[in-house]
Amino acid sequence: MKALAERVKSGQFLYMTELVASGLKREAQVLEIASKLAMIPEIAAGSITSYAGGQLGQDSIRVGTAVRARGLVPNVHLTCVGQDRTTIDKTLAQLGALEMHNIFAISGDWPKAAVRTAVFDIDSVQLAAHIAELRARTGTPYFISCAVSPFKYQREDCLYQYLKLEKKIAAGAEMAITQVGWDATKFVELKKYLDERGIKTPVLGNVYVLSRRAAERMNTGNPPGCWASDDLVAIVKKESEASDGGLQARLERGARSIAVLKGIGYAGAYIGGTHDANHIRWMIRRAEELAPKWEEIYEELQFGKKDGFYLYKRDPQPKPRRTFLPTVMDAAGKTLPFVPWAKTTKESLVKRVIAGAFRWLDRHPTLSHWFERFEFYSKKEVFGCQNCGNCVLGSMEYVCPQTCPKQMRNGPCGGTFHGACEVIDQECIWVKVMARAEASNTINQLKLFIPPPDRALTGTASWLNFYLGRDSRPGRSKDLWRSGGPGRTVEIDQDVTLQTAGPSAADQALAARQAKVAPAKAGGAGKAGEAGKPAEKMRQAG
Ligand code: SF4
Repeated sequence: MKALAERVKSGQFLYMTELVASGLKREAQVLEIASKLAMIPEIAAGSITSYAGGQLGQDSIRVGTAVRARGLVPNVHLTCVGQDRTTIDKTLAQLGALEMHNIFAISGDWPKAAVRTAVFDIDSVQLAAHIAELRARTGTPYFISCAVSPFKYQREDCLYQYLKLEKKIAAGAEMAITQVGWDATKFVELKKYLDERGIKTPVLGNVYVLSRRAAERMNTGNPPGCWASDDLVAIVKKESEASDGGLQARLERGARSIAVLKGIGYAGAYIGGTHDANHIRWMIRRAEELAPKWEEIYEELQFGKKDGFYLYKRDPQPKPRRTFLPTVMDAAGKTLPFVPWAKTTKESLVKRVIAGAFRWLDRHPTLSHWFERFEFYSKKEVFGCQNCGNCVLGSMEYVCPQTCPKQMRNGPCGGTFHGACEVIDQECIWVKVMARAEASNTINQLKLFIPPPDRALTGTASWLNFYLGRDSRPGRSKDLWRSGGPGRTVEIDQDVTLQTAGPSAADQALAARQAKVAPAKAGGAGKAGEAGKPAEKMRQAG
Protein backbone atom coordinates (compact mmCIF):
# COMPACT_ATOMS: atom_id res chain seq x y z
CA MET A 1 0.00 0.00 0.00
CA LYS A 2 1.43 3.32 -1.02
CA ALA A 3 0.92 6.20 1.40
CA LEU A 4 -1.62 8.78 0.25
CA ALA A 5 0.90 11.60 0.68
CA GLU A 6 3.26 9.81 -1.72
CA ARG A 7 0.53 9.26 -4.30
CA VAL A 8 -0.39 12.92 -4.15
CA LYS A 9 3.24 13.96 -4.42
CA SER A 10 3.75 11.85 -7.54
CA GLY A 11 1.48 14.24 -9.43
CA GLN A 12 -0.39 11.39 -11.09
CA PHE A 13 -4.15 11.85 -11.36
CA LEU A 14 -5.59 9.87 -8.45
CA TYR A 15 -8.91 8.60 -7.22
CA MET A 16 -10.44 8.51 -3.80
CA THR A 17 -13.74 6.83 -3.12
CA GLU A 18 -16.09 7.73 -0.35
CA LEU A 19 -17.02 4.88 1.95
CA VAL A 20 -20.11 5.74 3.91
CA ALA A 21 -19.91 3.77 7.13
CA SER A 22 -23.44 4.75 8.04
CA GLY A 23 -25.48 3.07 10.71
CA LEU A 24 -27.71 1.68 7.99
CA LYS A 25 -25.00 -0.28 6.26
CA ARG A 26 -23.71 -3.41 7.84
CA GLU A 27 -20.05 -3.08 8.56
CA ALA A 28 -19.33 -6.36 6.78
CA GLN A 29 -20.77 -4.86 3.60
CA VAL A 30 -18.48 -1.83 3.81
CA LEU A 31 -15.47 -4.07 4.31
CA GLU A 32 -16.39 -6.28 1.38
CA ILE A 33 -16.65 -3.15 -0.74
CA ALA A 34 -13.21 -2.04 0.51
CA SER A 35 -11.68 -5.38 -0.52
CA LYS A 36 -12.96 -4.90 -4.06
CA LEU A 37 -11.89 -1.26 -4.26
CA ALA A 38 -8.40 -2.25 -3.09
CA MET A 39 -8.05 -4.22 -6.36
CA ILE A 40 -8.34 -1.02 -8.43
CA PRO A 41 -4.78 0.37 -8.68
CA GLU A 42 -5.90 3.93 -9.53
CA ILE A 43 -7.68 4.27 -6.18
CA ALA A 44 -5.32 5.92 -3.74
CA ALA A 45 -7.59 5.76 -0.71
CA GLY A 46 -11.03 5.06 0.67
CA SER A 47 -12.43 8.09 2.45
CA ILE A 48 -14.36 6.93 5.48
CA THR A 49 -17.25 9.00 6.66
CA SER A 50 -19.31 7.91 9.59
CA TYR A 51 -21.27 11.11 9.82
CA ALA A 52 -22.86 11.68 6.42
CA GLY A 53 -25.64 14.27 6.48
CA GLY A 54 -25.52 14.65 10.25
CA GLN A 55 -26.44 11.02 10.92
CA LEU A 56 -24.20 9.20 13.32
CA GLY A 57 -22.74 6.07 11.75
CA GLN A 58 -20.19 3.50 12.79
CA ASP A 59 -16.85 4.03 14.47
CA SER A 60 -14.67 5.36 11.68
CA ILE A 61 -11.44 4.36 13.43
CA ARG A 62 -12.58 0.74 13.69
CA VAL A 63 -13.82 0.77 10.10
CA GLY A 64 -10.59 2.45 8.95
CA THR A 65 -8.47 -0.22 10.61
CA ALA A 66 -10.51 -3.00 8.99
CA VAL A 67 -10.45 -1.25 5.60
CA ARG A 68 -6.67 -1.03 5.75
CA ALA A 69 -6.46 -4.71 6.64
CA ARG A 70 -8.25 -5.36 3.34
CA GLY A 71 -5.61 -3.49 1.40
CA LEU A 72 -7.21 -0.06 0.98
CA VAL A 73 -5.54 3.07 2.36
CA PRO A 74 -7.99 4.79 4.74
CA ASN A 75 -8.63 8.53 4.82
CA VAL A 76 -10.60 9.12 8.01
CA HIS A 77 -13.10 11.97 8.29
CA LEU A 78 -12.66 13.90 11.51
CA THR A 79 -15.49 16.33 12.22
CA CYS A 80 -15.86 19.03 14.84
CA VAL A 81 -19.34 17.78 15.72
CA GLY A 82 -20.04 16.24 19.09
CA GLN A 83 -16.43 16.40 20.22
CA ASP A 84 -14.72 19.03 22.28
CA ARG A 85 -11.00 19.61 21.89
CA THR A 86 -10.15 17.02 24.54
CA THR A 87 -11.99 14.21 22.77
CA ILE A 88 -10.63 15.35 19.40
CA ASP A 89 -7.15 15.07 20.85
CA LYS A 90 -7.89 11.55 22.05
CA THR A 91 -9.15 10.59 18.59
CA LEU A 92 -5.98 12.00 17.02
CA ALA A 93 -3.82 10.09 19.48
CA GLN A 94 -5.68 6.87 18.57
CA LEU A 95 -5.29 7.53 14.86
CA GLY A 96 -1.60 8.25 15.35
CA ALA A 97 -1.07 5.09 17.40
CA LEU A 98 -2.80 3.01 14.73
CA GLU A 99 -0.72 4.73 12.05
CA MET A 100 -3.79 6.01 10.25
CA HIS A 101 -2.37 9.35 9.29
CA ASN A 102 -4.73 10.53 6.56
CA ILE A 103 -7.32 12.85 8.04
CA PHE A 104 -10.09 14.76 6.35
CA ALA A 105 -10.57 17.66 8.79
CA ILE A 106 -14.06 19.11 8.45
CA SER A 107 -16.69 21.05 10.40
CA GLY A 108 -19.42 18.46 9.90
CA ASP A 109 -23.15 18.74 9.42
CA TRP A 110 -25.49 19.80 12.16
CA PRO A 111 -26.68 16.64 13.97
CA LYS A 112 -30.03 15.27 12.92
CA ALA A 113 -32.89 15.51 15.42
CA ALA A 114 -32.42 11.90 16.47
CA VAL A 115 -28.94 12.73 17.71
CA ARG A 116 -29.22 14.97 20.70
CA THR A 117 -25.71 16.28 21.15
CA ALA A 118 -24.76 19.45 19.30
CA VAL A 119 -21.28 20.22 20.53
CA PHE A 120 -19.19 22.55 18.39
CA ASP A 121 -16.12 23.48 20.36
CA ILE A 122 -13.71 24.28 17.53
CA ASP A 123 -13.95 24.87 13.79
CA SER A 124 -12.26 23.20 10.84
CA VAL A 125 -9.47 25.81 10.52
CA GLN A 126 -8.61 25.42 14.19
CA LEU A 127 -8.74 21.65 13.73
CA ALA A 128 -6.32 21.74 10.78
CA ALA A 129 -4.02 24.07 12.74
CA HIS A 130 -4.06 21.75 15.72
CA ILE A 131 -3.28 18.63 13.69
CA ALA A 132 -0.44 20.48 11.98
CA GLU A 133 0.91 21.63 15.33
CA LEU A 134 0.68 18.06 16.64
CA ARG A 135 2.50 16.84 13.54
CA ALA A 136 5.32 19.32 14.09
CA ARG A 137 5.54 18.61 17.81
CA THR A 138 5.33 14.82 17.82
CA GLY A 139 6.62 13.97 14.36
CA THR A 140 3.44 11.97 13.57
CA PRO A 141 3.12 12.25 9.79
CA TYR A 142 -0.53 13.29 9.59
CA PHE A 143 -1.68 14.11 6.08
CA ILE A 144 -4.44 16.70 6.33
CA SER A 145 -7.19 17.18 3.75
CA CYS A 146 -9.78 19.90 3.98
CA ALA A 147 -13.07 20.70 2.26
CA VAL A 148 -14.04 23.55 -0.03
CA SER A 149 -17.16 24.33 -2.01
CA PRO A 150 -16.88 26.40 -5.16
CA PHE A 151 -20.59 25.69 -5.71
CA LYS A 152 -21.79 28.75 -3.86
CA TYR A 153 -23.83 31.15 -5.92
CA GLN A 154 -24.27 33.92 -3.39
CA ARG A 155 -21.45 36.42 -3.70
CA GLU A 156 -20.12 36.67 -0.14
CA ASP A 157 -20.74 33.00 0.59
CA CYS A 158 -18.57 32.06 -2.39
CA LEU A 159 -15.81 34.56 -1.63
CA TYR A 160 -15.63 33.33 1.93
CA GLN A 161 -15.35 29.69 0.85
CA TYR A 162 -12.21 30.55 -1.09
CA LEU A 163 -10.80 32.72 1.66
CA LYS A 164 -11.44 30.01 4.22
CA LEU A 165 -9.65 27.50 2.02
CA GLU A 166 -6.63 29.80 2.10
CA LYS A 167 -6.88 29.84 5.88
CA LYS A 168 -7.04 26.06 6.04
CA ILE A 169 -4.01 25.74 3.81
CA ALA A 170 -2.12 28.34 5.85
CA ALA A 171 -3.09 26.38 8.96
CA GLY A 172 -1.53 23.19 7.56
CA ALA A 173 -3.97 21.44 5.20
CA GLU A 174 -2.12 19.73 2.34
CA MET A 175 -4.96 18.79 0.04
CA ALA A 176 -8.48 20.05 -0.65
CA ILE A 177 -11.55 18.10 -1.67
CA THR A 178 -14.52 19.89 -3.19
CA GLN A 179 -18.16 19.57 -2.27
CA VAL A 180 -20.45 17.88 -4.81
CA GLY A 181 -21.42 19.95 -7.84
CA TRP A 182 -22.05 19.76 -11.58
CA ASP A 183 -20.77 23.10 -12.74
CA ALA A 184 -17.48 22.98 -14.69
CA THR A 185 -17.21 26.78 -14.65
CA LYS A 186 -17.10 26.67 -10.87
CA PHE A 187 -14.46 23.92 -10.93
CA VAL A 188 -12.34 26.20 -13.12
CA GLU A 189 -13.08 29.19 -10.90
CA LEU A 190 -11.60 27.48 -7.85
CA LYS A 191 -8.52 26.34 -9.77
CA LYS A 192 -7.98 29.82 -11.16
CA TYR A 193 -8.40 31.41 -7.73
CA LEU A 194 -5.63 29.21 -6.32
CA ASP A 195 -3.38 29.61 -9.39
CA GLU A 196 -3.64 33.39 -9.23
CA ARG A 197 -2.36 33.29 -5.67
CA GLY A 198 0.41 30.83 -6.42
CA ILE A 199 -1.19 28.18 -4.22
CA LYS A 200 -0.11 24.76 -5.45
CA THR A 201 -2.14 22.68 -3.00
CA PRO A 202 -3.63 19.72 -4.87
CA VAL A 203 -7.42 19.66 -5.19
CA LEU A 204 -9.66 16.65 -5.76
CA GLY A 205 -12.91 17.37 -7.57
CA ASN A 206 -16.02 15.67 -6.28
CA VAL A 207 -17.68 13.33 -8.75
CA TYR A 208 -21.00 12.14 -7.42
CA VAL A 209 -22.91 9.44 -9.26
CA LEU A 210 -26.30 11.08 -9.10
CA SER A 211 -29.44 8.99 -8.78
CA ARG A 212 -32.92 10.43 -9.21
CA ARG A 213 -33.63 10.25 -5.49
CA ALA A 214 -30.37 11.97 -4.57
CA ALA A 215 -30.96 14.64 -7.24
CA GLU A 216 -34.39 15.47 -5.84
CA ARG A 217 -33.03 15.72 -2.32
CA MET A 218 -30.11 17.88 -3.39
CA ASN A 219 -32.47 20.17 -5.23
CA THR A 220 -33.74 21.20 -1.78
CA GLY A 221 -30.22 21.64 -0.41
CA ASN A 222 -30.02 18.27 1.32
CA PRO A 223 -27.63 16.99 2.57
CA PRO A 224 -26.43 20.46 3.62
CA GLY A 225 -24.12 22.06 1.08
CA CYS A 226 -25.14 19.74 -1.77
CA TRP A 227 -27.19 21.26 -4.53
CA ALA A 228 -28.53 20.01 -7.87
CA SER A 229 -30.15 22.52 -10.22
CA ASP A 230 -33.67 22.20 -11.65
CA ASP A 231 -32.23 21.51 -15.10
CA LEU A 232 -30.03 18.71 -13.85
CA VAL A 233 -32.86 17.16 -11.86
CA ALA A 234 -35.09 17.20 -14.94
CA ILE A 235 -32.42 15.39 -16.98
CA VAL A 236 -31.77 12.82 -14.28
CA LYS A 237 -35.52 12.18 -13.99
CA LYS A 238 -35.75 11.57 -17.71
CA GLU A 239 -32.75 9.26 -17.63
CA SER A 240 -34.27 7.25 -14.82
CA GLU A 241 -37.09 6.20 -17.14
CA ALA A 242 -34.65 4.01 -19.11
CA SER A 243 -34.82 0.25 -18.63
CA ASP A 244 -31.71 0.29 -16.39
CA GLY A 245 -33.21 3.04 -14.22
CA GLY A 246 -30.70 5.55 -15.60
CA LEU A 247 -27.61 3.72 -14.37
CA GLN A 248 -25.61 3.95 -17.60
CA ALA A 249 -26.37 7.65 -17.98
CA ARG A 250 -25.29 8.31 -14.39
CA LEU A 251 -21.99 6.53 -14.86
CA GLU A 252 -21.40 8.30 -18.16
CA ARG A 253 -21.93 11.67 -16.44
CA GLY A 254 -19.47 10.61 -13.74
CA ALA A 255 -16.86 9.62 -16.35
CA ARG A 256 -17.36 12.91 -18.19
CA SER A 257 -16.90 14.87 -14.98
CA ILE A 258 -13.64 13.03 -14.33
CA ALA A 259 -12.42 13.80 -17.87
CA VAL A 260 -13.16 17.50 -17.32
CA LEU A 261 -11.36 17.54 -13.96
CA LYS A 262 -8.31 15.96 -15.60
CA GLY A 263 -8.40 18.52 -18.37
CA ILE A 264 -8.71 21.47 -15.99
CA GLY A 265 -5.73 20.25 -13.99
CA TYR A 266 -7.22 18.85 -10.81
CA ALA A 267 -5.08 16.41 -8.84
CA GLY A 268 -7.76 13.77 -8.86
CA ALA A 269 -11.38 12.80 -8.42
CA TYR A 270 -13.25 12.04 -5.24
CA ILE A 271 -15.95 9.56 -6.16
CA GLY A 272 -19.18 9.32 -4.21
CA GLY A 273 -22.69 8.05 -4.79
CA THR A 274 -21.58 4.52 -5.62
CA HIS A 275 -19.63 1.88 -3.77
CA ASP A 276 -19.69 -0.54 -6.66
CA ALA A 277 -16.15 -1.41 -7.76
CA ASN A 278 -17.35 -2.34 -11.26
CA HIS A 279 -19.03 1.05 -11.69
CA ILE A 280 -15.93 2.85 -10.51
CA ARG A 281 -13.63 0.80 -12.72
CA TRP A 282 -15.85 1.51 -15.70
CA MET A 283 -15.88 5.26 -15.04
CA ILE A 284 -12.10 5.37 -14.74
CA ARG A 285 -11.62 3.58 -18.08
CA ARG A 286 -14.30 5.65 -19.81
CA ALA A 287 -12.78 8.89 -18.48
CA GLU A 288 -9.47 7.90 -20.07
CA GLU A 289 -11.19 7.54 -23.45
CA LEU A 290 -12.97 10.86 -23.05
CA ALA A 291 -9.99 12.83 -21.73
CA PRO A 292 -8.75 14.10 -25.15
CA LYS A 293 -12.08 15.79 -25.85
CA TRP A 294 -12.67 17.22 -22.38
CA GLU A 295 -13.17 20.74 -23.74
CA GLU A 296 -16.28 19.67 -25.65
CA ILE A 297 -17.64 17.92 -22.58
CA TYR A 298 -16.86 20.98 -20.48
CA GLU A 299 -19.71 22.82 -22.18
CA GLU A 300 -22.15 20.06 -21.21
CA LEU A 301 -21.26 20.16 -17.53
CA GLN A 302 -22.87 23.49 -16.81
CA PHE A 303 -25.50 23.03 -14.16
CA GLY A 304 -24.99 26.18 -12.17
CA LYS A 305 -27.45 28.75 -10.87
CA LYS A 306 -28.59 31.00 -13.69
CA ASP A 307 -28.53 34.25 -11.70
CA GLY A 308 -25.69 33.06 -9.50
CA PHE A 309 -22.36 34.65 -8.70
CA TYR A 310 -19.30 33.73 -10.76
CA LEU A 311 -16.04 35.32 -9.72
CA TYR A 312 -14.56 35.65 -13.20
CA LYS A 313 -17.67 35.65 -15.35
CA ARG A 314 -20.61 37.58 -14.14
CA ASP A 315 -21.63 39.23 -10.96
CA PRO A 316 -25.30 40.06 -10.98
CA GLN A 317 -25.33 40.72 -7.26
CA PRO A 318 -24.86 44.28 -6.05
CA LYS A 319 -21.61 45.11 -4.31
CA PRO A 320 -22.15 45.72 -0.59
CA ARG A 321 -22.12 49.26 0.72
CA ARG A 322 -20.52 50.56 3.88
CA THR A 323 -23.04 50.75 6.68
CA PHE A 324 -23.38 52.70 9.91
CA LEU A 325 -22.29 50.27 12.62
CA PRO A 326 -18.98 49.10 11.14
CA THR A 327 -18.17 52.66 10.10
CA VAL A 328 -18.60 53.93 13.66
CA MET A 329 -16.77 50.98 15.21
CA ASP A 330 -13.88 51.33 12.75
CA ALA A 331 -13.61 55.05 13.44
CA ALA A 332 -13.58 54.44 17.21
CA GLY A 333 -10.97 51.70 16.83
CA LYS A 334 -8.72 53.97 14.78
CA THR A 335 -9.07 56.96 17.10
CA LEU A 336 -8.67 54.89 20.25
CA PRO A 337 -6.29 52.05 19.24
CA PHE A 338 -6.31 50.60 22.77
CA VAL A 339 -9.97 49.50 22.72
CA PRO A 340 -10.61 45.74 22.56
CA TRP A 341 -12.29 45.87 19.16
CA ALA A 342 -9.57 47.94 17.41
CA LYS A 343 -8.36 46.08 14.33
CA THR A 344 -4.77 46.86 15.25
CA THR A 345 -4.32 47.39 18.94
CA LYS A 346 -1.29 49.31 20.12
CA GLU A 347 0.57 49.34 23.41
CA SER A 348 0.27 52.78 24.95
CA LEU A 349 0.27 54.61 28.24
CA VAL A 350 -3.54 54.81 28.18
CA LYS A 351 -3.79 51.05 27.69
CA ARG A 352 -1.44 50.45 30.62
CA VAL A 353 -3.48 52.80 32.84
CA ILE A 354 -6.73 51.03 31.91
CA ALA A 355 -5.07 47.65 32.53
CA GLY A 356 -4.00 48.87 35.98
CA ALA A 357 -7.54 50.01 36.80
CA PHE A 358 -8.96 46.69 35.58
CA ARG A 359 -6.46 44.73 37.67
CA TRP A 360 -7.84 46.54 40.69
CA LEU A 361 -11.43 45.89 39.54
CA ASP A 362 -10.62 42.22 39.03
CA ARG A 363 -9.67 41.88 42.68
CA HIS A 364 -13.18 42.98 43.71
CA PRO A 365 -15.66 40.26 42.71
CA THR A 366 -18.84 42.30 43.22
CA LEU A 367 -17.56 45.22 41.19
CA SER A 368 -16.20 43.02 38.42
CA HIS A 369 -19.52 41.18 38.30
CA TRP A 370 -21.38 44.45 37.75
CA PHE A 371 -18.82 45.45 35.17
CA GLU A 372 -19.42 42.16 33.38
CA ARG A 373 -23.20 42.82 33.43
CA PHE A 374 -22.61 46.31 32.05
CA GLU A 375 -20.48 45.00 29.21
CA PHE A 376 -22.90 42.21 28.43
CA TYR A 377 -26.03 44.37 28.29
CA SER A 378 -24.30 47.05 26.26
CA LYS A 379 -23.30 44.46 23.64
CA LYS A 380 -26.27 42.13 23.77
CA GLU A 381 -28.75 44.14 21.76
CA VAL A 382 -26.27 45.47 19.23
CA PHE A 383 -24.19 42.36 18.55
CA GLY A 384 -26.18 39.48 20.08
CA CYS A 385 -23.39 39.02 22.63
CA GLN A 386 -23.49 35.77 24.56
CA ASN A 387 -20.75 36.44 27.04
CA CYS A 388 -18.11 34.11 25.68
CA GLY A 389 -15.40 36.11 27.44
CA ASN A 390 -13.05 36.04 24.40
CA CYS A 391 -14.30 38.89 22.27
CA VAL A 392 -13.21 38.87 18.63
CA LEU A 393 -15.71 41.39 17.24
CA GLY A 394 -12.86 43.47 15.82
CA SER A 395 -11.59 40.51 13.78
CA MET A 396 -15.04 39.64 12.47
CA GLU A 397 -16.33 42.99 11.23
CA TYR A 398 -18.36 43.39 14.42
CA VAL A 399 -20.40 40.21 13.94
CA CYS A 400 -20.45 37.99 17.01
CA PRO A 401 -19.22 34.42 16.28
CA GLN A 402 -21.49 33.06 18.99
CA THR A 403 -24.50 33.90 16.82
CA CYS A 404 -23.38 31.18 14.40
CA PRO A 405 -25.11 27.98 15.58
CA LYS A 406 -21.86 26.08 15.05
CA GLN A 407 -19.95 28.89 16.79
CA MET A 408 -17.29 29.06 14.11
CA ARG A 409 -14.65 31.77 14.29
CA ASN A 410 -12.79 31.41 11.00
CA GLY A 411 -15.45 31.45 8.31
CA PRO A 412 -18.56 29.63 7.17
CA CYS A 413 -19.01 25.88 7.00
CA GLY A 414 -19.94 24.34 3.67
CA GLY A 415 -23.56 23.75 4.63
CA THR A 416 -25.05 27.06 3.51
CA PHE A 417 -27.89 27.03 1.02
CA HIS A 418 -27.64 30.04 -1.30
CA GLY A 419 -26.31 32.16 1.55
CA ALA A 420 -28.73 30.86 4.19
CA CYS A 421 -27.68 29.04 7.35
CA GLU A 422 -27.78 25.25 7.34
CA VAL A 423 -29.26 25.14 10.82
CA ILE A 424 -31.73 27.97 11.24
CA ASP A 425 -33.77 30.22 8.99
CA GLN A 426 -31.44 33.19 8.90
CA GLU A 427 -28.79 34.49 6.60
CA CYS A 428 -25.39 32.92 7.29
CA ILE A 429 -23.59 35.32 9.63
CA TRP A 430 -20.46 35.07 7.49
CA VAL A 431 -22.26 36.70 4.58
CA LYS A 432 -22.47 39.86 6.66
CA VAL A 433 -18.84 39.58 7.77
CA MET A 434 -17.64 39.31 4.17
CA ALA A 435 -20.01 42.05 2.93
CA ARG A 436 -18.68 44.50 5.51
CA ALA A 437 -15.07 43.58 4.77
CA GLU A 438 -15.67 43.94 1.06
CA ALA A 439 -17.33 47.31 1.52
CA SER A 440 -14.34 48.60 3.48
CA ASN A 441 -11.68 46.88 1.33
CA THR A 442 -10.41 44.85 4.25
CA ILE A 443 -11.01 41.31 2.97
CA ASN A 444 -7.37 40.40 3.60
CA GLN A 445 -7.83 41.06 7.30
CA LEU A 446 -10.29 38.16 7.41
CA LYS A 447 -7.38 35.82 6.67
CA LEU A 448 -6.22 36.24 10.25
CA PHE A 449 -6.35 32.98 12.19
CA ILE A 450 -8.75 33.18 15.12
CA PRO A 451 -7.88 30.63 17.80
CA PRO A 452 -10.48 28.65 19.76
CA PRO A 453 -11.94 30.56 22.69
CA ASP A 454 -10.95 29.77 26.24
CA ARG A 455 -14.31 28.47 27.35
CA ALA A 456 -13.31 28.73 31.01
CA LEU A 457 -13.89 32.46 30.51
CA THR A 458 -17.54 32.02 29.47
CA GLY A 459 -19.67 34.42 31.48
CA THR A 460 -16.79 36.74 32.36
CA ALA A 461 -16.14 40.29 31.11
CA SER A 462 -14.21 40.07 27.85
CA TRP A 463 -12.95 43.64 28.25
CA LEU A 464 -11.32 42.73 31.55
CA ASN A 465 -9.89 39.59 29.97
CA PHE A 466 -8.51 41.62 27.07
CA TYR A 467 -6.69 44.18 29.21
CA LEU A 468 -5.44 41.54 31.63
CA GLY A 469 -4.14 39.42 28.75
CA ARG A 470 -6.06 36.27 29.56
CA ASP A 471 -8.40 35.86 26.60
CA SER A 472 -7.75 33.82 23.47
CA ARG A 473 -7.67 36.05 20.40
CA PRO A 474 -5.73 36.51 17.15
CA GLY A 475 -2.07 36.91 17.97
CA ARG A 476 -2.67 35.61 21.48
CA SER A 477 -3.57 31.93 21.14
CA LYS A 478 -3.67 30.15 24.45
CA ASP A 479 -2.46 26.59 24.68
CA LEU A 480 -5.82 25.08 25.40
CA TRP A 481 -4.97 21.71 23.89
CA ARG A 482 -2.01 20.29 25.69
CA SER A 483 -3.64 20.95 29.03
CA GLY A 484 -6.58 18.88 27.81
CA GLY A 485 -9.01 21.76 27.84
CA PRO A 486 -10.99 23.57 28.84
CA GLY A 487 -13.23 22.97 25.88
CA ARG A 488 -16.95 22.93 25.44
CA THR A 489 -18.17 19.96 27.39
CA VAL A 490 -21.89 20.59 27.45
CA GLU A 491 -24.33 20.48 24.60
CA ILE A 492 -25.14 23.84 23.06
CA ASP A 493 -28.79 23.54 24.03
CA GLN A 494 -27.83 22.61 27.59
CA ASP A 495 -25.43 25.47 28.10
CA VAL A 496 -27.01 27.56 30.85
CA THR A 497 -24.82 30.59 30.17
CA LEU A 498 -25.86 30.66 26.57
CA GLN A 499 -29.49 30.07 27.38
CA THR A 500 -29.66 33.03 29.71
CA ALA A 501 -27.62 35.36 27.55
CA GLY A 502 -30.02 36.85 25.09
CA PRO A 503 -30.80 36.05 21.45
CA SER A 504 -28.62 33.06 21.62
CA ALA A 505 -27.35 30.36 19.37
CA ALA A 506 -28.88 27.99 21.89
CA ASP A 507 -32.36 29.41 21.22
CA GLN A 508 -31.72 29.25 17.54
CA ALA A 509 -30.40 25.75 17.79
CA LEU A 510 -33.47 24.63 19.66
CA ALA A 511 -35.73 26.35 17.13
CA ALA A 512 -33.78 24.66 14.39
CA ARG A 513 -35.15 21.30 15.37
CA GLN A 514 -38.54 22.49 14.16
CA ALA A 515 -37.13 24.61 11.34
CA LYS A 516 -35.50 21.57 9.80
CA VAL A 517 -38.84 19.94 9.20
CA ALA A 518 -40.68 23.14 8.32
CA PRO A 519 -41.70 23.47 4.66
CA ALA A 520 -39.81 26.76 4.24
CA LYS A 521 -36.49 24.94 4.29
CA ALA A 522 -37.64 22.04 2.17
CA GLY A 523 -39.12 24.09 -0.57
CA GLY A 524 -36.56 23.44 -3.27
CA ALA A 525 -34.79 25.81 -5.58
CA GLY A 526 -37.83 28.03 -5.99
CA LYS A 527 -38.09 28.53 -2.28
CA ALA A 528 -34.42 29.21 -2.08
CA GLY A 529 -34.83 32.08 -4.43
CA GLU A 530 -37.49 33.57 -2.19
CA ALA A 531 -35.36 32.99 0.87
CA GLY A 532 -32.54 34.82 -0.85
CA LYS A 533 -34.48 38.09 -1.02
CA PRO A 534 -34.71 38.89 2.68
CA ALA A 535 -31.16 37.64 3.03
CA GLU A 536 -30.05 40.13 0.42
CA LYS A 537 -31.90 42.90 2.25
CA MET A 538 -30.19 41.99 5.50
CA ARG A 539 -26.82 42.03 3.79
CA GLN A 540 -27.33 45.50 2.40
CA ALA A 541 -28.58 46.73 5.73
CA GLY A 542 -25.30 45.54 7.27
S1 SF4 B 1 -17.76 38.71 24.05
FE1 SF4 B 1 -17.95 36.86 22.78
S2 SF4 B 1 -20.16 36.56 22.74
FE2 SF4 B 1 -19.85 38.70 23.32
S3 SF4 B 1 -19.84 39.91 21.40
FE3 SF4 B 1 -17.72 39.37 21.86
S4 SF4 B 1 -17.40 37.48 20.70
FE4 SF4 B 1 -19.60 37.73 20.88
